[in-house]
Amino acid sequence: MTHTADPAPSPEIHKSSLTDGPSEPRAPGSSALKRAFQCLALVGLLLPLLTSCKVSSHPVAPSPMGQVVSSDELVARLGEPGPVTVETVVAAEWMVDRAGLINLDHDEAKAHGLTSGDEPIHIAMHVLRHPTRGVYLVDTGVERAFRTDKGNALIRGFVGSAMNVDAMKVHVDTASYLAAHRIEPRGVLLTHLHVDHLTGMRDIPNQVPVYLGPGETEARGFMNLFVQGITDEALEGKGPLLELQYARDPAGRFAGVIDLFGDSSVFALWVPGHTAGSTAYLARTPDGPVLMVGDACHTAWGWEHDVEPGTFSNDPDESVVSLRRLRQLVAAHPHINVRLGHQTLPPQAHARASQTPKQP
Ligand SMILES: [Zn+2]
Repeated sequence: MTHTADPAPSPEIHKSSLTDGPSEPRAPGSSALKRAFQCLALVGLLLPLLTSCKVSSHPVAPSPMGQVVSSDELVARLGEPGPVTVETVVAAEWMVDRAGLINLDHDEAKAHGLTSGDEPIHIAMHVLRHPTRGVYLVDTGVERAFRTDKGNALIRGFVGSAMNVDAMKVHVDTASYLAAHRIEPRGVLLTHLHVDHLTGMRDIPNQVPVYLGPGETEARGFMNLFVQGITDEALEGKGPLLELQYARDPAGRFAGVIDLFGDSSVFALWVPGHTAGSTAYLARTPDGPVLMVGDACHTAWGWEHDVEPGTFSNDPDESVVSLRRLRQLVAAHPHINVRLGHQTLPPQAHARASQTPKQP
């Protein structure tokens, strides 16, 4: 689940008219017991419906882009300057619950006294400029409506309140950024399909293809009752979501690796856990490699202390593995510049993380 607040309260089924009659004597507490069983039966009937809702009903298709490679090929090129530039645009500041961003049950989090509460974060997009393939966006920033027409913004109303959208302060919207820089994107590379990564999607022309990891629309859950409509609205009018066709990384560093342009300039790394298809992107620039991890790690504290994301993630165990894999890559190649999902890593943190001992 993405950065949403607690689910809506359950319907007040305890106050239904299914109460017992007044005449028959019964053991104390039996009516309460009966109501409890009725509630359970109702929940049992509704639960499959409530949890069977997908993230999105938007169509998907296999991505024709890129070729599967071993992470050995990526590692072999890390020392060489590359042709792509990366600009990280911080579109907005926001505030969400730390418990979603960091696993507060982790011993390290407990040792540091981390507790639930507001954590300042940002929403970003990364602008990748390739000398011959054009401009690609990693994630989407924030649409203009969040600045100028909040009543019609992608996240609004009840869901907007639940997601604390009033706390969002927009610095630059995607439409304005693209116009000011005369950018016509050739593609959007999503790190994953959560709504806080789609907030700028409606500012991007519909003909621009959207790529992402596998299985992103398929996750089931109660909150998708609210999220699916927003996700579908963000994608309305666009072509099918193009799923990257990963295969197992023979070198075992990641779940899968794809050389997106076939020239070793930009790699997609499959890092499942936060979501099934979560993808990090590594771009080789003239100044060295830049690694955009998406929400495999939201926060600087999580990266520095090797603590995986919290309740926002689908699969906590996979989240641990994927974060460890990304940190191991950076530990072995400390010149990699890391861009986190929702915070900026201080320069000294790169050095500290690179001193992390390698794990088996
Ligand atoms: Zn996010």
